[in-house]
Amino acid sequence: MATPLVVVEDLRKMFVHMGRELHVLRGIDLTIEQGEVVAMVGQSGAGKSTFLHCIGTLDMPTGGRIKLAGEDLTNLSSSKLASIRNRTIGFVFQFHHLLPEFNALENVMMPGLIQGRSRKELEPMARTLLSEVGLGERGTHRPGELSGGEQQRVALARALVLSPKLILADEPTGNLDTGTSEAMHQLFFEVNRKHGTTIVVVTHNLAFAQSMPRVVRMRDGRIEADERRGASLPDASTAAAASVAPAAEG
Ligand code: ADP
Ligand code: MG
Repeated sequence: MATPLVVVEDLRKMFVHMGRELHVLRGIDLTIEQGEVVAMVGQSGAGKSTFLHCIGTLDMPTGGRIKLAGEDLTNLSSSKLASIRNRTIGFVFQFHHLLPEFNALENVMMPGLIQGRSRKELEPMARTLLSEVGLGERGTHRPGELSGGEQQRVALARALVLSPKLILADEPTGNLDTGTSEAMHQLFFEVNRKHGTTIVVVTHNLAFAQSMPRVVRMRDGRIEADERRGASLPDASTAAAASVAPAAEG
């Protein structure tokens, strides 16, 4: 069997805020297989963003373990983490964080440009991705000349430009109206189908979550429910449970 893309064991995150300990992640075990599409739901404050930040190496856990593509992230240097992040993960946030002075095409290429890769090398991929998100004609538009939905689609294309194995999306449609959100949700499925990208998306849209093959519900820093639906993944949850069981009990 292929190595799971993400293995999380007894993950904990504690913040100290004004002298008090805030236990935000209280022991999370979760395995995500390559190619899965997972919705994360749960009330505001449940710890969803913190969890995504830990998996995405943007924040350091205070306990437990994360393995990404077989690599244990515990105790790695920040430069090693950055290299794993750049190779493995694309992010889409609630706010698109596009650079206003650059056009859509340049924004899509930006993660590669920052790494010193050439425009010439990046441009064909960036153009293809812009077409895939339905913005083939908008490459020369700056973010201010695009609608909210279009800006988020540029952000998704940008997240894909370095061919990540994993997309982490934190309420990517939180600022979009219903129709625009649905189109964006559909794009995540298309990206998954086309590129095989594993996708974890935090959403408040229950209709969208319910259309997903797997829904993980968080509550008070723990996983309250983890449900797979559909006949396409009959054995995965058993296999995933078996693969984390020894460590989880240890
Ligand atoms: P969600 O995304 O599910 O709404 P978050 O992960 O953003 O939840 O936050 C979970 C809890 O952690 C909240 O109570 C929040 O106030 C707290 N929290 C998040 N980041 C920090 C931080 N940097 N310092 C202190 N507390 C934090
Ligand atoms: Mg959040």
